[in-house]
This record gives sequence, C-alpha cells and structure tokens, in this order.
Amino acid sequence: MVLPIVAYGDAVLRKRGEDIEKSYPNLQEFIENMFETMERAKGVGLAAPQVDKAIRVFVVDSRRMVEDGDEDENPEGIREVFINPKLFDETGKEWSYEEGCLSLPSIRENVVRLDTISIQYYDRNFDFKEDTFRGLTARVIQHEYDHIEGKLFIDHLKPLKRSLLKGKLENISRGKVNVDYKMKFPKK
Ligand code: ZN
Repeated sequence: MVLPIVAYGDAVLRKRGEDIEKSYPNLQEFIENMFETMERAKGVGLAAPQVDKAIRVFVVDSRRMVEDGDEDENPEGIREVFINPKLFDETGKEWSYEEGCLSLPSIRENVVRLDTISIQYYDRNFDFKEDTFRGLTARVIQHEYDHIEGKLFIDHLKPLKRSLLKGKLENISRGKVNVDYKMKFPKK
C-alpha cells in the first residue's frame, strides 16, 4: 500500500524516532509499504517519520543512483531496510552532492558530507548487522539517518542559503507544490 508522504512543516519530521521491538505490530507489512511508497515516488530512500511514524526505521535503494553523466548503475548500490540503526563512524573526505527530499519537493541543494560511514542496525528479520558504506550509498544512509534524528538536509545549509528557501518552504507546508505522489500537508 502506498502511504502519503508527510510534507515539510509537520512536527513529526522534527521528532527523534523511537527504537522499536521485534514485536512491532505489522512490521513486515509496514516495511513493504515503505518500499512501495518510495518506489512510487521514485525516491532512493524513505524514513518512517516521512510516513508519519516517529520510529527508527528507514529504507534505502541506491542501486539506480548514478553519478552525473554516468550511465551505469551504482555498483555499490544496496536495497535494504535499517531498523534501530546506530551510525557510529563517519570518515573519509568531504564531498558535495545535490540532495533532494520527498518531503521537500522542488528543493535541491548541495550538501557537504563525509564519504564513508559505519553503521550498526537490524535488518527486516531483526538480525544484527554492522557494515561500512561509501559514496552514494553512504550519502543516502546519512540523509535517511538524519530523518530519524529529526533533522532535514536543509539543516546542513549555511544560514543565508537557508533563508533564501523560506518562501519555497512555506509553499510546501501549505500544499502549493506540484507532485505526482500522494502527500500529507500540515496546513491544508
Ligand atoms: Zn529526505
């Protein structure tokens, strides 16, 4: 089932997500719904707060992401669900990449992040995993991890840049956007 994606301005996007138990009601169905919602909106990642659940769960599909001008699929891409993740290391060099977010349609800005991360998490079977990711996959995980911490990618922008987005952000929260996926607007 495709779920509505919460738009900028909703308080749930600013809440730190809670860890969940293995017994979380209808967990497998929820994960399937998250993948379906992400795919319908042509996203490469989706976090639970974006579908109105303040819990520490996000899905990632970085396989179809490509570098600018590169026709190949991302060879290091993954399709995975991260439950109760803990990002415990960020290293490597800083790099800038233009990010967007399904909750902030029409806004794309360059964000500087470190290129290598190490993360512990539970997969959909609640098996414990620990892994290191680089490049675009690391980028998507960092973006989604921010969501479950109540952060958005625009928080990484310099204050001046962010203030220039004020009008656009106000429009998003009021539903004045053109999107071809289902959204839930706070001020409508
Ligand atoms: Zn996002």
